[in-house]
Amino acid sequence: MSLRDQLLERMARPQRHRLLQGFPAVPAMSQAVPVRSDSDLEDGLGRLIRSFDGAAVDVGFDEAVKQLEEGKPRPLQSSDADPPQRRARIEALNAQTDARWVEDEPWLRAIVDSGGRAEAPWLNVDRSRDLIIGVIPHTQCVPRREACGFCTFPHDSPNKQERLRMVDAVARDIGAVGVHEALRGRRVHAAYLGGGTANLSSPEELERLLSALRSRFVLEDAELTLEGTPALFESWFSSHLKSLAKQSVAHRRISMGVQTFDARFLTLMGREKFGDAALVKKLVRKCRDLDITTSADLLFNLPGQTLEQMQKDVDTALSAGLEQICLYHLVLYDGLGTPWSKDASLVNAMPDTRRAAEHWLVLREKLLRAGYEQSTLTNFERSDVRAGPKRFRYEAASFAPDRTDAIGFGPLSLTTFVDWPRKRGLKLLRRKSLGPAPWSGEDLAYRYDEAGLRLFFLTRSLATTRVQLARYEATFGSSLHHDFGPVLEAARSEGLVTLDDSAVALTPLGMFYADTIVSTLANGRSQSGGAGVHTADLLKETPQVEQYRSMG
Ligand code: SF4
Repeated sequence: MSLRDQLLERMARPQRHRLLQGFPAVPAMSQAVPVRSDSDLEDGLGRLIRSFDGAAVDVGFDEAVKQLEEGKPRPLQSSDADPPQRRARIEALNAQTDARWVEDEPWLRAIVDSGGRAEAPWLNVDRSRDLIIGVIPHTQCVPRREACGFCTFPHDSPNKQERLRMVDAVARDIGAVGVHEALRGRRVHAAYLGGGTANLSSPEELERLLSALRSRFVLEDAELTLEGTPALFESWFSSHLKSLAKQSVAHRRISMGVQTFDARFLTLMGREKFGDAALVKKLVRKCRDLDITTSADLLFNLPGQTLEQMQKDVDTALSAGLEQICLYHLVLYDGLGTPWSKDASLVNAMPDTRRAAEHWLVLREKLLRAGYEQSTLTNFERSDVRAGPKRFRYEAASFAPDRTDAIGFGPLSLTTFVDWPRKRGLKLLRRKSLGPAPWSGEDLAYRYDEAGLRLFFLTRSLATTRVQLARYEATFGSSLHHDFGPVLEAARSEGLVTLDDSAVALTPLGMFYADTIVSTLANGRSQSGGAGVHTADLLKETPQVEQYRSMG
């Protein structure tokens, strides 16, 4: 199929209108550490641990060698977080050291005989690059309708005990990873506590995470964001806001999941109690008093939503005085897997892709006319804010991989580090289970070679709507036209991008079809051997937070 036909075929499908991850998609990622056998996952979690620089430490092998040298097993460790049966079993085993040795010695010898699997770092981490940190404290939220009807993000039922354990596990991961010399003491450019409903956690829980971050990193120069629903910012007696205001950082902001102000759609989503226009306005005023900037996410192209209703939502957001407004086209089609996608009447009420794109153009224009500047595909920032020291940093930095490394903590968090001199990179995805050490167990990884890095750079940078040719050339010593000319040319013919002497830029229409452009660019380029795990599979996992288990 010609590139043009590929583009047209993709453009006819439902669009995502967002580039959350850049290349590669989750199915192309592999298991972060090779698994020796099923029992590795059952009883030896943590035997092989991947570092964010790609090195692998074979904890199991090292420990087995040590124990054989010493001629006796080390005491097994338990913690208060272990279930009572496990603690009792560990105590009993420790009390019978000799018996354990007879039982353990052949097993340890088998591990040593099969050889260590340690691997040298894949890349050198450059401490001078900007570092951003994304922390997902937990995956819980409180939708009154399953998945609010439309949601494709991680969401689990609220359970305080489980949430506390999850937050503890995230804090533990921060402490364990942040101790690495390439990270410890790094000045952080921006830190983000989200996504989903991070503010379901109490201020104390979030404080624990911030303390863990401060014990390893320097946050004083950072932008700090807390994400959540408007009503929860209010219901903790605004103490989230007060505690955020006290944080010693360069700039504080909140990001609110509003979605719509329309009572009919809020009811359809079961979000009637998540916060209306009056509450959002009140929070914006309160935040201004506390020197916190505010951002809100709006969905458009809801099933059956008229353009007038969409415009009314944007008008209400504008009148609230938000510093940033983010517009997301609803992804909804038969087979998506969300509750709404199983309801034919809702799917049939969606605008076709062409009309959906026209709505985007109208809403975008409205925000620009109101004095907002587009900073990314979906985000619009008030011009006065964008021109000043409080311009929003996190998203812009995350779309600048030539300058920024990103580390993620918590369930389904993403990490990407790049070694530009060697033209290598590494992307890591933490699964929902935080039992194994970070990037071991079933976590996923992708190693970028130079060709992969070019695609990663381009697909991430396109989320800012424009890629400077000189920047690409300075980074790779090759031109964008040389590396991606045919696809870009096809996209230009369809009116999706403009190409001139200085930049490749998405047209307003191309912004809506950004996912189409990126998937055409990436088509056939991912290395083989991915684990084939889909994002939908990840979302279905049950979060688990047992303590690290190791042999020693
Ligand atoms: S939209 Fe927010 S509240 Fe609703 S299910 Fe998704 S994460 Fe939970």
